[in-house]
Amino acid sequence: MLQEYRNEPFTDFSQPANREAMTRALALVESQLGQSYPLVIGKEKIMTEEKLVSINPGNKDQVVGYVAKANLELAEKAIKTAEETFSTWSQVDPAVRARYLFKAAAEMRRRKHEFSAWLVYEVGKNWAEADADTAEAIDFMEFYGREMLRLAEPQPLTRIPGEDNELYYIPLGVGVIIPPWNFPLAILVGMTTAAIVSGNTVVLKPASASPVIAAKFVELMESVGLPPGVINFLPGSGGAIGDFLVDHPRTRFISFTGSMEVGLRIYERAAKLAPGQIWLKRVVAEMGGKDAIIVDKEADLEAAVEGIVASAFGFQGQKCSACSRAIIHQDVYDYVLEKVVEKAKQIKVGPPQDPGNFMGPVVDQKAYEKILEYMEIGKQEGRLMCGGGKAEGNGFYLQPTVFADVDPLARIAQEEIFGPVVAFIKARDFDHALEIANNTIYGLTGAVYSTNREHLEKARRHFHVGNLYFNRKCTGALVGVHPFGGFNMSGTDSKAGGRDYLLLFTQAKVVSEKL
Ligand code: NAP
Repeated sequence: MLQEYRNEPFTDFSQPANREAMTRALALVESQLGQSYPLVIGKEKIMTEEKLVSINPGNKDQVVGYVAKANLELAEKAIKTAEETFSTWSQVDPAVRARYLFKAAAEMRRRKHEFSAWLVYEVGKNWAEADADTAEAIDFMEFYGREMLRLAEPQPLTRIPGEDNELYYIPLGVGVIIPPWNFPLAILVGMTTAAIVSGNTVVLKPASASPVIAAKFVELMESVGLPPGVINFLPGSGGAIGDFLVDHPRTRFISFTGSMEVGLRIYERAAKLAPGQIWLKRVVAEMGGKDAIIVDKEADLEAAVEGIVASAFGFQGQKCSACSRAIIHQDVYDYVLEKVVEKAKQIKVGPPQDPGNFMGPVVDQKAYEKILEYMEIGKQEGRLMCGGGKAEGNGFYLQPTVFADVDPLARIAQEEIFGPVVAFIKARDFDHALEIANNTIYGLTGAVYSTNREHLEKARRHFHVGNLYFNRKCTGALVGVHPFGGFNMSGTDSKAGGRDYLLLFTQAKVVSEKL
């Protein structure tokens, strides 16, 4: 009998036994760095001559792994194999499909620290961030497995005499899964397993900055006996094979998480009918954010300071939910700003293998340069309070950066920076704060610190974001607890980890039989 769903607990690294276990896992992973990983199409494991080279962003001389890189020919083969496998996989009992997820979750739980250690090395997560990423991946599998069982039950219909009516949620077909690198395990696992447990087969194209952790997940699914061809693993450059996969007439849906720019491109291309295509492609796109924390004049200011620091600088600000705007009531502005700057200056930046470092590196050279550029723009647009440049180390280390007195329409207050940079904006009153908060093209997460009930209720109605938090930070959504996804240019309004998510990967078929 299946247990009721509950979130995977986070590891308490203040316990010596847990610290030792993580240290052992880091050593194990370090001993496995530099290996090569094939792409996987059906039963075939294919090594290509050209490879993606995954570098440890915290130590640029260290290669995490070499991963095969697909070309268009291999992309065609992957779609074909997924299509062939769909005819059998779509007929597998949903309970059997769900069981693969439960088995994989159990196995990942057993090897939790090992998966987290790969995240530390490949994308520079600190221990707690890596542990949360792995826990979320486990949660997605446990949650979506149970969701499939729920959807496979007889669905409530209005019954009429003389007819037997049933509604079934059937899969769509071949899906292209395109995850980002910033939750390279959790989001990749969530997107992939939601699609396959619903009966679809997929071509999984991981982000080029994090292909090794993706390969580790694919190995795990093979180890639990998932039939070949259900997940076809196709690492490669998004620029080189992305359009081909999206445009392909046999692609039935695209599940994408990443930047607005790429999301828009996919949305537009997917809308064009390819010769021979007999369906409208479905696109699930979860995109960027420009998330704000509002601090009212009546609020627990210490909690607000903690919340801003954690949301702005956790994982170097590289979360779609990260706080990149702190909108503060003018009466408490100076106090909150001063305290946030004080705390930001105390943040330790350095190799994430060392649990004493709160911030590790940003993910790669491109991100590093882009964020440095925004720091320069910020120096023109606001008052630099701390940080503003590179930090020490043989990696992509940046200083936690705070800009004060930023205009709500300044570039650093409007564009997603995706780095450890927060813009402080002064608000005249609570209504003004709400107006500023809503005044971007995005609508992903937001938080309000206030003890004024009327203000909270106003925000509940008018702060237009998919995930709104009161008196807590704006990052850290939990599967099943805080179904996640935003409005406007933050995506197609889907909710990962929520009870309507699997419907995005199915279509409803009604069968009526006259009795
Ligand atoms: P990205 O640059 O848009 O890349 C995302 C994925 O798209 C990668 O796998 C990338 O492959 C692929 N891609 C690139 N060009 C493509 C094309 N023409 N066709 C198809 N696929 C293509 O985003 P990222 O830097 O990985 O991730 C950060 C972004 O994700 C931020 O904007 C963040 O806010 C957003 N995000 C949103 C959510 C959410 O739930 N809303 C969650 C996490 C992250 P390559 O790596 O090979 O280029």
